[in-house]
Order: sequence, then C-alpha cells, then structure tokens
Amino acid sequence: MSQAPDWLNQLINPNVIALTPYQSARRLFSGGQDWLNANESPFTHDYELDQSNFNRYPSCQPSAVLSGYAAYAGLEESNLLITRGADEGIEVLIRTFCQPGKDSILICPPTYGMYAISAQTCDVKVTNVPLKDDFQLDVDAIKAESNEPKLVFLCSPNNPTGTVLEVSDIKQVLAHFSGKALVVLDEAYIEFTDTQGWAEQLAEHPNLVILRTLSKGFALAGLRCGFTLASRDIIQALLKVIAPYPVPEPVAQIAAQALSKEGIARLRNDVSYLNQAKIQLAKRIASFPNCTLVGSDKANFILFRTPEKQAIMDFLVSHGMLIRDQSKQLNLENCLRVSIGNEEQNARLIQLLTDYFTQRGCDK
Ligand SMILES: *Cc1c(COP(=O)(O)O)cnc(C)c1O
Repeated sequence: MSQAPDWLNQLINPNVIALTPYQSARRLFSGGQDWLNANESPFTHDYELDQSNFNRYPSCQPSAVLSGYAAYAGLEESNLLITRGADEGIEVLIRTFCQPGKDSILICPPTYGMYAISAQTCDVKVTNVPLKDDFQLDVDAIKAESNEPKLVFLCSPNNPTGTVLEVSDIKQVLAHFSGKALVVLDEAYIEFTDTQGWAEQLAEHPNLVILRTLSKGFALAGLRCGFTLASRDIIQALLKVIAPYPVPEPVAQIAAQALSKEGIARLRNDVSYLNQAKIQLAKRIASFPNCTLVGSDKANFILFRTPEKQAIMDFLVSHGMLIRDQSKQLNLENCLRVSIGNEEQNARLIQLLTDYFTQRGCDK
C-alpha cells in the first residue's frame, strides 16, 4: 500500500491511521477457481428484475422485503431493519449506541472480525473476553468485566469455530446487561442449524438484538442484504442513523423473491445438501495425518488444525483452491477453515489434500 503524504496523515483521524483494512477473502486472493474461503454458497439461483422504477429513489425500507422477512422470522415488520448486509447492521448499531473516544463494545474471540473493525473505525474501544477452551462463553469473566460496554457481540453459530452458544449462558449475559447494554446475537449461520434461533425470544428480552443475512444460507452474498431484529424502540433509533436509501431497488426486488415460498424452499434444499456434504467432508479431513477437527460443524464450514497448515495452504493455492487461514485468531494456532462447496469442489479439495499427503510422504 502506498504511504499517504504527511499533510494528509495530519488530516486522517488517528484511529483510522491505526487501522488495517479487513482482510476479506476477496482482498487476500483474487485468482483461483475454487472459492472455499468466504463461507459463500456454491449455488446460484435466477431472479427477475423490473426496471420500470430504476429512475426513482427506492423506499428506505421496502415493504415487500419487510413483509417477507417478518413472515420468515415470525416477527412484526416493526421489529426489523433491512441493511446493506449484516455488516452494515453492526456498524449502524455502533454508531447509534457508542460515543467515539468514550464508549466500548465487548467481543468474545475467536470470532467474526467485523465487530472490532467497525468499532475501531468509529473510535470505539473493544474489550476482549475470550471464549473458553470449548468455545463457550466465559460468563463469569463477562460479568466481572469492569469496562462497561454499550454493546456485547455474541456469535452463534460462531464464525470461525462453528459452535453454538449455550442457551443458559446467553440468558445469563442478557440478564446481567439488562437495562445497561444491548446484547447483539449474530445469527448469520442460523439456517444451517435445526433451530429457529432467538427471534421468538425478542419480546422477552428488551436488550436483545439479532443479526441475520441473506449472504450465507440464502446464497446471496453478492446482494448485500441483511437484517437487524430488535424491539420497535431499538429499530426506531437505528432508523435515525442509517442512510436514507440503504436498500437499492434491484436488491429489494431480488430479496423479496428470495423470501418467497419458492425461495425459502430452495434455501431449505441447498442447506440440506450442504449439511450432508459437510459431514462427509469433515470425516475425510479428519482422516488425513495430523489433521484434527476444531470446534463444531453447525455452520457451512469446517475448521481443522494441522501442523502443516502453511504447506497445505500453499499447495492448495498453487492449484487454485482457496481456503481460509484462521491461525492468527486467538487460540486457533495452525487452524484452517474450509467452506462447504458443491459436489465437484468438495471432491477436488479432497483429491488435492490426498495428493498433498501422498507427495509429502514421498519427499520425507
Ligand atoms: C458473513 C458474516 C456476516 C456478514 O454478513 P453480510 O450480510 O454479508 O454482511 C456477519 N456475521 C458473521 C458471523 C458472518 O460470518
């Protein structure tokens, strides 16, 4: 990256100077043919566009999308905010509830990277309370935390560990922060579990916020469409901060189709394939020398540990197979994450790993 001139560095906010941009899968590798590094769906579906309104600004919160997602999640439309991916939900929450230079958020690493990055871009402090060895919440440590966070980010199923948080732990955290902080439960991978998630419990817990997305199970990462689920009062506060036209008209049209009866049937079909393929893939990966599965498999990816992670990464990349190095995350030394692909991609991954271990066996 080129160095900005001095005068510009004087102008850029100090908290922004200190930042390194999110190392998204797309930024790390632009080549390759098999993309098993960003937890994207391997499937694509067809949608129709009506262009007759493209000359008009879109509705701030298009009603067909609101009604579709409300029906899908079992909520009222007043409990929903449509955002530019769940990532925008994270940012709007921080901008609505945290004062720059003063407030903090609490996160439980290893977890999704965007909570900390969004906080840092807003000059909001980040308190880390690591997950325990079994990747469950350290509830006592969370309760003992003296920095009073405004937002507590929990991720279940968690990226990149694939683990689901204990219901009783989440309840304790909600109770502890009742009246003091919002607990933001990121359910980006909820479609891959056999539960409905926490949407039904919103009314019971006024400080609960849930993040959802069309990027993972719904196979629409390119669409940039996510949802924040919360009490009507919280949604009203967020609506003051979000951009006036956050949902482009083509996005609204496609999202509404994805949330139709047929769209949801397709989603169920995709997820059921991916969940079965995941079990097969996990078995195969665990059968390679010194490869140990880490965490759980409740989302659309597998995490595993191998002392040869660098050599394996390099070998796969040189063959156009992209997976994700998670080894810099807390307690995930030597861990690699593989998103579940289609039949061909999964088979190619196993073939390449087989080739790698055969070749290395001969070399040694
Ligand atoms: C992918 C992901 C998101 C982001 O979803 P978008 O809707 O694509 O912005 C949020 N949280 C977690 C845990 C994710 O893995």
